Amino acid sequence: MPLDYISHPQCLLHLNHSRHPERPERITAITEYLAASGLQQEFRQILATPISIERVKKLHQPALITQLQDESEKLSGTDKRYMLDPDTGMCAHSLNAALLAAGAVQQGVERVLNGQSIRAFCAVRPPGHHAEEATSMGFCLINNVALGAIRALEYAEVNRVAILDFDVHHCNGTVDLFKNHSDIMVCSSFQHPYYPNRLFSIKKDNIVNTPLQAGTPGPQFRVAIERDWIPAIQAFKPDLIMVSAGFDAHKDDPLADLLLTEEDFTWVSQLIVSLANTYCNGRIVSSLEGGYTLDALARSVAAHLAVLKDN
Ligand SMILES: [Zn+2]
Repeated sequence: MPLDYISHPQCLLHLNHSRHPERPERITAITEYLAASGLQQEFRQILATPISIERVKKLHQPALITQLQDESEKLSGTDKRYMLDPDTGMCAHSLNAALLAAGAVQQGVERVLNGQSIRAFCAVRPPGHHAEEATSMGFCLINNVALGAIRALEYAEVNRVAILDFDVHHCNGTVDLFKNHSDIMVCSSFQHPYYPNRLFSIKKDNIVNTPLQAGTPGPQFRVAIERDWIPAIQAFKPDLIMVSAGFDAHKDDPLADLLLTEEDFTWVSQLIVSLANTYCNGRIVSSLEGGYTLDALARSVAAHLAVLKDN
C-alpha cells in the first residue's frame, strides 16, 4: 500500500510577519525536492479537508478558538497581521490553514485506522506541537497531532496512542494537553535549555522527556533515543504511533544548535517503523512540525518518507 501524502495548497496562504522562518516556501521546497527525486510518484496524494471547529473545541479551550475566529474575521479581506505572541502571527488565511493542517492529520488517522492505508505523512503548516490547551504559541495555532490522537482513541480497537516528537523544540503543547491522559504517551527529544522552556520537568509515566545539550551530534542523539524511547514504547504497547516530525535539529538549521544529519533522520525513522511493526501493525501517522533551512528540510523530509514508504 503506498504512503498517503496529505496536504493542501491553502496551507501556503498562512503568513507570519515578513522574513519569518516559518514560511510557505518550506512546503514548496519539500514538494519540489520530492518531485525531482522521483519519490513523490510513489505516494498517494490526498487533498486535506478541514477539521471542524467543534472538534477543535473538544481539545482546546473554546475561548482560544473564539479568539482565533474573532481575529480571523477582523483580518478578512486585508493583508494585515495579528500577532498571537511575539513569534506567532496570523493573517486572514491562517485559521483556515490551521484547520486544514489539523484536518490532514485527522484524515491520516482515519485512513490508517479504516485500513485504507498503513502510513500517512501530512505536509502541512502552521505546525502544531507548541499549541497548549488555552494558548497558541511558537508558530502554532492549534495542536494538529494532538487532535489526531484524540480522533484515534475514538476507534474501538485503539486503546493507546504514542506520539514521538524529534523536533528540536520540546512539545510543551502536546505535553500540556496529555499530561493527565494515561492512554496517550508523549516522547520528546529536544535541545535544553532552550525555547519554549516550560513543562519539561513534569514527571509522569506517559511523558518521556529527552533533553539534549546544544552541540549534541547524531551518535549521542541515537544513544539517548534508544535509552529512553525503546523501553517506554515496549512497556506502553501503543496501537498507533504518531510522529511530530520536526527537522530543525538538523546541523544546518538556523533556529537551534543540535547537529543531526539526514542520516540521523533516516535512523530515527527506521526505529519508529520497527516499533510500529512490532506493536501497531506498522501503522504510523506523521506530521510536519519545524525545519527552517529549505534544502536541509527537503532532504530530511525525503529521508523520513523513504523509510516510511518501504518498511
Ligand atoms: Zn521546532
